[in-house]
Amino acid sequence: MPCASTGLTFERMNASAHEARWWRPLANGKLLCTLCPRLCEIPEGKAGFCFIRKNVTGRLQSLGYGKSTGFAVDPVEKKPLNHFLPGTMVLSFGTAGCNLGCKFCQNWDISKARIDERRSEEGSPDQIVGLALRSGCSGIAYTYNDPVIWAEYAIDIAAAAREAGLKNVFVSAGYVTAEARPEIYRYMDATNIDLKGFTEDFYRHVTLSHLEPVRETLAWLRHESNVWLEITTLLIPGRNDSDREITEECEWIVSALGPDVPVHFTAFHPDFKMTDLPRTPAATLRRAREIARRCGVRYCYVGNVHDAEGQTTFCPSCGSALIQRDWHAILSYRLDGDRCPDCRSVIPGVFHAGDHSADSWRTGGGRWRVSLH
Ligand code: SF4
Repeated sequence: MPCASTGLTFERMNASAHEARWWRPLANGKLLCTLCPRLCEIPEGKAGFCFIRKNVTGRLQSLGYGKSTGFAVDPVEKKPLNHFLPGTMVLSFGTAGCNLGCKFCQNWDISKARIDERRSEEGSPDQIVGLALRSGCSGIAYTYNDPVIWAEYAIDIAAAAREAGLKNVFVSAGYVTAEARPEIYRYMDATNIDLKGFTEDFYRHVTLSHLEPVRETLAWLRHESNVWLEITTLLIPGRNDSDREITEECEWIVSALGPDVPVHFTAFHPDFKMTDLPRTPAATLRRAREIARRCGVRYCYVGNVHDAEGQTTFCPSCGSALIQRDWHAILSYRLDGDRCPDCRSVIPGVFHAGDHSADSWRTGGGRWRVSLH
């Protein structure tokens, strides 16, 4: 399949660099990248903050196009998505670089790397779709580093995946402009947005970005797209885990997005520039979940810990346990289509048709690496 933006085949594109979308030349001779709210002004021969969008002789090039830093088959619960085809596997990959500067980055070996510093595997959209199908995946996840910065590649793969009957999952911090959002999400079926905290101070100093554009993306996804949305907040001890901040986040989610958007609170481990802090205690995650429930969030989960209750989907009407999980594994599945089998309430999400309670597709929760070649 030729590239949607250039019309070139993958082989032709690789012969030359891949031209980016969402930029324009400025009077000062630099290029303005309008893909994310950072709005980098990029001089000749230089790359933007994310490392992988570069001004090459007056045209913006997407250096990450066609270059993955490795493929894995993951449970969809690892994205995390708990209300999107539970128990299925998704082919997952990323490239290099990132448009945020999180001091706690849990994937910093790829997010802080330049594309030429990482061993990458070259793959066309059709090759990646073929790998997903051969691996028995329900879809493809654009993940590990933020796919916003390699959106041209993600869009081309997603278009080919949809044609082949696969789903597309976009795992992002949601730091993207209103100009680029509709194109990026055109072929996406589900997304998990990493809402990194709920104060501008935290966003500014710990992630080197801003909160408001992320809230705008969340509202757009919920109200102006058909993409299934879940939210994750990594709770960092002493930085974004106060009762007040969690309460404000959850109150905003319920009022701006509604009570049915699943919220995941996950545990931080010391990494990158934040190795002086302890791991998030399980009690902090339980506290956050309690606050969320008090604020009216109907589906709140905890992650990166073992917590049977905090990882179970309960019917908000009758309280029945519908999907029981342990970490990323599904232990029991009682949904009948999208309904509670006991009180027949509809559970929001994208679920398998009919009664799957005895099916063998339940995942053990593991992951494995795969390769194109
Ligand atoms: S996508 Fe990259 S180059 Fe473009 S504005 Fe954002 S950080 Fe800068």
